[in-house]
Amino acid sequence: MDNSARIRADEVELLKPATLLIVWGDGHESLYSDRSLRESCECAACIDEWSRAPILDPATLPADLHLTGFERTGRYGLNLAFSDGHRTGIWTLERLRGTCPCPDCDGSSS
Ligand SMILES: [Zn+2]
Ligand SMILES: [Zn+2]
Repeated sequence: MDNSARIRADEVELLKPATLLIVWGDGHESLYSDRSLRESCECAACIDEWSRAPILDPATLPADLHLTGFERTGRYGLNLAFSDGHRTGIWTLERLRGTCPCPDCDGSSS
C-alpha cells in the first residue's frame, strides 16, 4: 500500500456525539473521541517542550468537552478547536493514523 494514501485524509468530519471521523486515502475509516484527542494534545500549553512532561491535567477538562471545529494545516496536519477554548494543538495525520483506535489498527503498527 502506498504510504502517502495511508496518511491522506480524504474526509474529515465532526460527528455527534463528540467524535471525529477521518476517512483515509486507502479507504480506512477512523473514529476518535474528542476527549482522547484533547488529552493527547502535544502543544506547548499541554506538554512541556523541554522535559516532555504533561502540563495538562485531564481531570480539569469539562465533562461535556467536544470539538468545535478543525482546520487543515498544510497537507499533513489538522488543527483542532475544542469547546474548552483550546485551539493551539496540531495533530499530524501520520500520528492520527498511527493512533487509530479501531480493532484493526489497535496494537498493530503495520
Ligand atoms: Zn494543547
Ligand atoms: Zn483503524
